[in-house]
Order: sequence, then C-alpha cells, then structure tokens
Amino acid sequence: MVIRSALLYLSQLEGLKNFATRFPPFKKLTTRFVAGETIDEAVAAIRRINEAGCSASFDHLNESVTSPAETTAEVSEYLHILEQIELAKIDSNVSIKLSQFGLEIDPELAYKNARIVVAEAARRGNFVRVDMEGSLVTQVTLDIFRRLRAEFDLNNVGIVLQSYLYRTYEDAQALLQIPARIRICKGAYNEPPEVAYPEKKDVDENYLRVMKLLLASGTYHGIATHDPRIIEATVQFARQEGIGKEAFEFQMLYGVRRDLQLRLARDGYKVRVYVPYGKHWYPYFMRRLAERPANIWFVIKNMLKG
Ligand SMILES: Cc1cc2nc3c(=O)[nH]c(=O)nc-3n(C[C@H](O)[C@H](O)[C@H](O)COP(=O)(O)OP(=O)(O)OC[C@H]3O[C@@H](n4cnc5c(N)ncnc54)[C@H](O)[C@@H]3O)c2cc1C
Repeated sequence: MVIRSALLYLSQLEGLKNFATRFPPFKKLTTRFVAGETIDEAVAAIRRINEAGCSASFDHLNESVTSPAETTAEVSEYLHILEQIELAKIDSNVSIKLSQFGLEIDPELAYKNARIVVAEAARRGNFVRVDMEGSLVTQVTLDIFRRLRAEFDLNNVGIVLQSYLYRTYEDAQALLQIPARIRICKGAYNEPPEVAYPEKKDVDENYLRVMKLLLASGTYHGIATHDPRIIEATVQFARQEGIGKEAFEFQMLYGVRRDLQLRLARDGYKVRVYVPYGKHWYPYFMRRLAERPANIWFVIKNMLKG
C-alpha cells in the first residue's frame, strides 16, 4: 500500500516525468505496457491482438494538456484514429480521457471536444469509452457523459466506474436507468479514505457487487480486470444466471496477463485489450508499476542489464 501510494505520487511529478521521458533505458522499458509512440505502432499491435482473437481500444496518452490548442490537437489525433481503424480494417474502438480534452481548463471545452469525437465515432458506427480519472473529477465526468449519452446512442458512447469509490454502486444503478454501457474497474488513482475503500478486500467485494448488477442488467458491459478470482466469479455468475458469453466482454491492459487474455478468448469469451500509445506515457506507466510492486523489480533488472 505504501509503495503503491509512493509510485502514484511520483506519477504526478513533472520534473521526474521530464527526466524519465528523456532517459533512453527507461523509455525502452515502457514497451511492456505501451504499444509505441506512433499511431502506426499501435495499429500494428492491434493487428496482432485481433489475430489472437481479441478486440482492442485505442488510448492516445496525454493527460496533462495545458492549453486549448493542445486539446484541439488531441481531437485531431482521435479523428485520425477513427479513420485509421476503418482504413486498416482492425477491430477496435477508442478510449478518451476528458483531461486530455481540457477538463482542467474548462469542462465546457472538454464536453465540446469529446462531442466532436463521439459524433465522428457515431458517423462511422464506432464507440467511444470515456475513461474515469481521479475522484475530484468523477462528478463532472459523469455529467459530461450524461450529456453525450442524451445525444448519442447506447452503442456510440460509454463510461467507466471504479469499485474503490463508495459512490460507485449507486452511480451504476443510476446509469443503468438511462441505460448506459459501463466499464467497471478497481480504480488506479491515489484516493483518500473519505471517498474510497482503503482496503483491497472491500474494493474487490464492491467490484463483485457491481459486476453482478451490470451483468444482470441486460446491457453490454466491460468487466475490466486481471484478477483471476474476479474473472472466475464473473464466469460463474454468468453461467448460473444463464447470461451468454456474447452478452459482456472482459477487458485487460496491453502487456498485462496476456496468457489470461488468450485463454479467455480461446474459451469463447469476448476480450478487449486496452492499447495505449504516444509520447506522454509517464503517468500511465507509473500507475502500472503501482499496481504490482513486482513490476519495479522488472524495471530495476532491465536497467541493470543496460
Ligand atoms: C481495460 C482497462 C481499462 C481501465 N480503465 C481505467 C479507468 O478508466 N480508470 C481507472 O481508474 N482505472 C482504469 N483501469 C485500471 C484499473 O483501475 C486497475 O488499476 C488495474 O486494472 C489493476 O487492477 P486489477 O483489476 O487488475 O486487479 P489487481 O488486484 O490490481 O491485480 C490482480 C492481478 O492482476 C495482475 N496485474 C494487475 N495489474 C498489473 C500490472 N500493472 N502489471 C502486471 N500485472 C498486473 C497481477 O497478477 C495481480 O495480482 C483500467 C483497467 C483495465 C484493465
């Protein structure tokens, strides 16, 4: 828990970010979790994922935009991704973060930018997942999602909820009324005990409650986790309730538990791999290290190897 908090703290340090992104050995290590710096590298990675029987979700990494001009560039990148998905004939949707569309500059700007991308996805028959970030922006992210969902179809825009937040079960109940497609995950940010369960066992228990609520709802949702116990509980619950394998999807991160991704796909489950790419990989990479302390040994070992 201490290591997790320390790494999540480091993930937000600009100075370290600038150092890490210029330090070649560190950069090389990111290839475990990041598909590359360019869209072509991400397309190639997604092709391999598709060949293995899984679908994908593009994520252009850039959480710290500081000017409206940068947010416009992010919108262009996503329009380009949506075009590339069609041209390359790959099976993928896209994931966006409202912070990269200007949430911290002005929520209205983030809404307008996200709207452009969702409209383009709708035009092309594709889907945009709005990722969830830190708890300070949970409510505004949900508000913007609701505005988008009011205008666009169930199958054009979806949202993410995090089981570490106390509020999540109720948020899920409310969103299911619209209805909305939800990705449930545990949550990757440093949150205080006022808003989030400090104990992992409570986070996991809440995850299972929300997973059951989602699966029983009849809407197509994403069960995003690498936790074998939660995956097994999902498989069991679906079987017990007579919910088909096509009624939901498992989602996992690029480079994490590839064996499990392939096994589930071979067993006939739908599996979607979240594929991040881009130059601004530092905070994303640090969150992945925080999730599993053993990953730090992987970093140290590889650095010593040169
Ligand atoms: C598709 C997808 C989308 C996500 N979107 C969001 C989002 O929008 N907002 C958000 O806050 N979080 C998001 N997350 C991250 C999520 O919240 C968790 O931080 C992350 O998935 C780790 O939790 P876990 O469910 O795998 O369980 P954990 O209990 O953390 O891990 C279970 C097991 O999975 C393996 N594992 C987990 N993480 C790693 C890792 N980094 N490296 C190696 N092995 C690992 C280990 O074997 C570990 O024992 C997303 C995760 C996925 C899979």
